[in-house]
Amino acid sequence: MPSLAELHAREEARFLETHPRSRELAERARAHLFEGVPMHWMRKWPGGFPVFVREAKGARFVDVDGHEYVDFCLGDTGAMTGHAPEPTLRAVADQSARGITLMLPSEDALSVSEELTRRFRVSAWQFALTATDANRFSIRLARHLTGRSLVLVFNWCYHGTVDETFATLGEDGRVGARSGNLGPPVDPAVTTRVVEFNDVDGLGRALADGRVALVLTEPALTNVGIVHPEPGFHDALRELTRRHGTLLAIDETHTICCGPGGYTAAHGLEPDIVTIGKPIAGGIPAAAYGFSAEMAARLAGTIELEDVDVGGVGGTLAANALSLAAMRATLGEVLTEEAFERMIPLAERWTDGVQAGIDESGLPWHVTRLGCRAEYLFGPERPRTGAEAHAAGNVALERYLHLYALNRGILLTPFHNMALMSPATTEADVDLHTEVFRAAVSELARS
Ligand code: PMP
Repeated sequence: MPSLAELHAREEARFLETHPRSRELAERARAHLFEGVPMHWMRKWPGGFPVFVREAKGARFVDVDGHEYVDFCLGDTGAMTGHAPEPTLRAVADQSARGITLMLPSEDALSVSEELTRRFRVSAWQFALTATDANRFSIRLARHLTGRSLVLVFNWCYHGTVDETFATLGEDGRVGARSGNLGPPVDPAVTTRVVEFNDVDGLGRALADGRVALVLTEPALTNVGIVHPEPGFHDALRELTRRHGTLLAIDETHTICCGPGGYTAAHGLEPDIVTIGKPIAGGIPAAAYGFSAEMAARLAGTIELEDVDVGGVGGTLAANALSLAAMRATLGEVLTEEAFERMIPLAERWTDGVQAGIDESGLPWHVTRLGCRAEYLFGPERPRTGAEAHAAGNVALERYLHLYALNRGILLTPFHNMALMSPATTEADVDLHTEVFRAAVSELARS
């Protein structure tokens, strides 16, 4: 039976042979793009070079070699709406003909903030262009309000390129720089405390001295495999943060997969801040962060008008008219209640298909789902913590499975075994994945 390395080599050869045009572009790209890619992590796609895209619509895209793919990556959630959704396109065309960015508000800002309030249980909103910035600004404001300097995150979290969050727990329990952390401004232990997700006792200890300004977390971790909160975890998190005067920010950028108001609305959370980016404008750069009424009242009047433009919360293009028009259309007409009613059962179907493949092959893996997102991990049980989820990763297996899928018309999210459903995804798309996954794992089980 062939080994994993032999199977991988076979898939690489197939990829090379069937993607001559992408290969040609990848070679040309080496001349004037650093390491041949416009964004450095595109080097991570399996196959040696990324496929170059000709066009994308709905849940599918076509590459420059003419291959069509079902896209379960969906821009790692940026295109969870499906690619180029019609209502967003119309709003973008209409607004861009009437001005793109002005540093002045348009009426759309009001309807978007009303809609976000209706969805997320916080009521005073600001806009940014990326979820990273929404998180960065939330951290700054939390420090400003509390007069404290530390941030607490959970081990193996991801919240964008936010310096304070690039910290992990070492085996000795100390906070250190996450592996690969490029040029950290200071040792992350200076800015950040790290606790394992679901570790209520550890959280209590880390907050007890009253030095933590903010806990920033996804309500369920989604960036290291899916890690669900255990029953009672969110109640304890809220109770402890309140008790110790620490603000709580819930990052819904990925967990909007749970429904129109994300995990926050689906589970009745009561954060001080909600942050969200990626899909809320259908892929047009846009993000938002909202404060609870209580936090907004505390914040009001504390920022001098004289300094408001240089306080470290900024972005010339933030809240531009185009982003807001795209957000209004996307929230109003694309990421609707009805869309989630379609998307979530599709993720259930995907999960069932993957589970069947795992069961048939006897491999010690598991699959888990969060709303319209699902993911398999190379360990027998659902992880309780980021460290457990991280330990269940396996780069060689992941690269092989992703390439196997890509060669058969399926795109999965890089750095995850994750699939996301869009309103345009169909049962047939899901069944194609099931078929390909089952074939891949049955071959692996025999290797
Ligand atoms: N928050 C979460 C939970 C994310 O997963 C990500 C990106 N994967 C971000 C924030 C940052 O988003 P962006 O890169 O668009 O700033």
